[in-house]
Amino acid sequence: MNDTKNLACLVCGKTEEEVPLFKLVYRGEELRICPQHVPLLIHEPQKLVGKVEGVENMNPA
Ligand SMILES: [Zn+2]
Repeated sequence: MNDTKNLACLVCGKTEEEVPLFKLVYRGEELRICPQHVPLLIHEPQKLVGKVEGVENMNPA
């Protein structure tokens, strides 16, 4: 597992050098997501299946 990939937005791969990132912790693993993609996580988590392990267990708000 490559640690540096978690330091960028899990959707678009932008780093905290480029945009402010929210930090998420899921199953002991830190994830980052940029403000642009937070709504996606909230409303359409199924779109992140394959990017975030376990996201299929999340229900859209
Ligand atoms: Zn993003």
